Parts: sequence; C-alpha cells; structure tokens
Amino acid sequence: MYVREKHVKILAAVMGVAGIVIFALLPFIKKKHDAPPAPVTKITDAKLSGEMFDVCKVNVPEKDWQYIIVHHSGTKEGNAANFDAYHKNKKKWRHGLAYHFVIGNGNGSADGEIETGPRWEKQIHGAHSGRMDFNRISIGVCLVGNFEKQGSGPTQGQMESLQHLLKYLCKRYNIALDKVIGHNQVQKSQTACPGKNFPFNKMKFALAEALKGELRESESQQEHNETDGSPRI
Ligand SMILES: [Zn+2]
Repeated sequence: MYVREKHVKILAAVMGVAGIVIFALLPFIKKKHDAPPAPVTKITDAKLSGEMFDVCKVNVPEKDWQYIIVHHSGTKEGNAANFDAYHKNKKKWRHGLAYHFVIGNGNGSADGEIETGPRWEKQIHGAHSGRMDFNRISIGVCLVGNFEKQGSGPTQGQMESLQHLLKYLCKRYNIALDKVIGHNQVQKSQTACPGKNFPFNKMKFALAEALKGELRESESQQEHNETDGSPRI
C-alpha cells in the first residue's frame, strides 16, 4: 500500500512538473503563429473588487487617467480579439484594440465578461474618443452590443460588471463622477455611442451611490459632458 502511494505521489509530481513546463512554454508556442496577440486577461465573473484588481493589474507604471469613456460596440456580437483584429487589420491602428476594456454580452464572449486589452496592459492611449487629447487621458470601456437599435440594451451582467469596473477605476485613479462619460458626451464627437438605450443616468446614480464619500469633489463642471452635434452611430 505504501509503495503504491509512493508511486502515485511520484506520478503526481511528474505530471505537475510537466504541466508547469507546458504552461511556461505556451507563450512561446503561440508566438510561432502570425495571429495578432490576443488581449490577455479574461475573467468570467467580475463581481468582486479582488477580481477587479486582477483585471486592472499592470506591470508598467500607471498613467494618470482622468476620464472614463463608455462605448457600445455598435455590433450585436464580438469580443476583444475580434475588435483587435478589426482595428489592427482594417483600421490599420498599430496598437490594435482601441478600447482598454471590453465587456461581453454572451455573443462572442461570456455575458458580463471583462476582457483587458493590450493598451491597458501597456498603459498607453486609446483610440476610442475621436479626439487625441481625450484618448491620452481617458480609459475606454466598450460594451458589446448596439444600444441604439430599437429594443436593445446592455445585459444585466454587462451593467453589473461595468459598475464594478467603474467603481474600481474611479477609486484607483481618483476620477470624479462627472468625468465618467458616454462617448456622445465628448465634445464634437458627433456620435450616438453608447446608444439611446444605454441607461446612462441609472448607471451614474448607481455609481454615485457606490462611491459615496470615497472621491474628491470635481474641481469644475467640465465642458465635455455636453452632447454636441446631431447624434449618429
Ligand atoms: Zn464609442
């Protein structure tokens, strides 16, 4: 019996070591293909701040982010890898995926899944607001879906994940509530994004409740939260 147990232990140890070696080699194996680097961090249940810490963790110096801009993808399905390929191959954006985070709707990635893009991991500007001055200082969060379409809207899972992410980011970077805006509130953006069915006021109210007393007062009523021009997708 003892000998058998010993064998089992040895076998388990060997399998463990083999597993670690394969895991360690995975990134190198992947690099042999020409596929664009996939956005890295994925979680399926974004409900705890500990998970937010993991989602938002970076190994480079953090940027002094000042705004968070919420988007919809304008597509009924998708995920960070799809958008990354589109932005890289069709839009020819060197850094690929325009947003820092993508929140899935169950079509292309799990409902409420938060995917972290390479731009976040490198702490570099996004390409989502239509204005470079904003791209440099704003975190871009995209919810998969077209919320401008009749009868559409984000899923409950997406809104829950968004709330957790926003709360975490606002606290971490001391971003005032009025600097959490929709894409259509970026001056001269001329877009309907994140769509007329995105529950912006409800989201802001819930965020205000969640952050009560935890943030500085906004220094000024900034000019950027005005819709400018006729909305379009
Ligand atoms: Zn947008």
